[in-house]
Amino acid sequence: AGPKSVTAFERATQLMPGGVNSPARAFGAVGGTPLFIERADGPYLFDIDGKRYIDYIGSWGPMILGHAHPEVIDAITEAAAKGTSYGAPTEAESRLAEQIIDAVPSIEKVRLVNSGTEATMSALRVARGATGRKKVIKFAGNYHGHVDSLLVAAGSAAATLGAPDSPGVTPGAAEDTLVLSYNDVAGLQNAFAEHGPDIAAVILEPVVGNMGCVVPTMAFLQAARDLTTQHGSILIFDEVMTGFRVAFGGAQERFGITPDMTTLGKIVGGGMPLGAYGGKAEIMNQVLPAGKVFQAGTLSGNPVAVAAGSATLRLLKEQPPYERLEQLADRLANGLDQAAASAGIPHTVAKAGAMLTLFFNGDPVTSWNEADRCDREAFGRYFWGLIGEGIYMPCSQFEALFFSQQHTEAMIDETIA
Ligand code: PLP
Repeated sequence: AGPKSVTAFERATQLMPGGVNSPARAFGAVGGTPLFIERADGPYLFDIDGKRYIDYIGSWGPMILGHAHPEVIDAITEAAAKGTSYGAPTEAESRLAEQIIDAVPSIEKVRLVNSGTEATMSALRVARGATGRKKVIKFAGNYHGHVDSLLVAAGSAAATLGAPDSPGVTPGAAEDTLVLSYNDVAGLQNAFAEHGPDIAAVILEPVVGNMGCVVPTMAFLQAARDLTTQHGSILIFDEVMTGFRVAFGGAQERFGITPDMTTLGKIVGGGMPLGAYGGKAEIMNQVLPAGKVFQAGTLSGNPVAVAAGSATLRLLKEQPPYERLEQLADRLANGLDQAAASAGIPHTVAKAGAMLTLFFNGDPVTSWNEADRCDREAFGRYFWGLIGEGIYMPCSQFEALFFSQQHTEAMIDETIA
């Protein structure tokens, strides 16, 4: 049978986003039936059989207010009805820009793009343009986006979320990239001692999100801040995951360290495709038309995504959920910690605000691959059971996909059943 005879069902199973290790794929790999979501509402996902699940990772992060929030829907509907205009700034875009500038300490000027990946690519481009230097320092396991230069150069399997690279797509810009260990202050000092004048930027996740929650030490963040300042390099916080999540102003507000540039995605678009990057005016002024660094995108600042993002930031500011998220994360962390301990499962809990991970093997990559053995039924039941029906669970990064079936079942036995 040729490709055209592949059913929509099969095609969807092949092409489900997130690749082989996404929880949806993992469910399919275990039970033989992939998880097809028909609709989502608040904290819940409903599959095509009408079964309900807690969306424990807020669809990879954006849905901090939950799915189908009425005010976000209204904003989107209104914007769509007004039609679209690209290439000239709109009032809605300016409003969102102001909200971002108001919230994020490092951002004096901002540009809207279509995703977190684009935000990171653009920020690096501008940093290289602004400094006239090429080298970029990154940290193993930090995820910055899905293009070769970001993925592969990040230098570890972790950077591709555990999926092996195929030979055709290996080291894009690796020669310009130094990959160091996260939280390794001496490593950072040595890299600057050797390459200081060539380093355009240091980019880091100010709490690592995608491989599980890895919290930075203050000494590490401070060293990154001091060394970049001393050497005229640009410090970029990739706050695509942490922005508006670990605090309204992101990790930079939480830790009190202000980078030169910041990248945003996920929450900033309220569930629609949108990213942003910004920073000090003197750096952002390097971008066309004020400066010489080209950066543009046909659909950048599209009004529907801008409306969703703008409504989301307004709601988050009016009713900050951060304290509640932290309490919920504490409760979950304690429950999981006790359950794992009493089941005799070695583990560590990592937490920053409402970002939470239970590491079973201490190794994010191995833990991630444990997801392949998740059981869909147990998975849904566990999170539902612990959090309880009707409890507002506005997302947060419960890196729950690291549970193996065995561990999950043990925990259910211990805590719920
Ligand atoms: N940077 C970080 C820290 C992320 O978590 C992600 C996505 O998970 C990205 C960049 C890429 O964003 P996107 O998937 O919107 O392209």
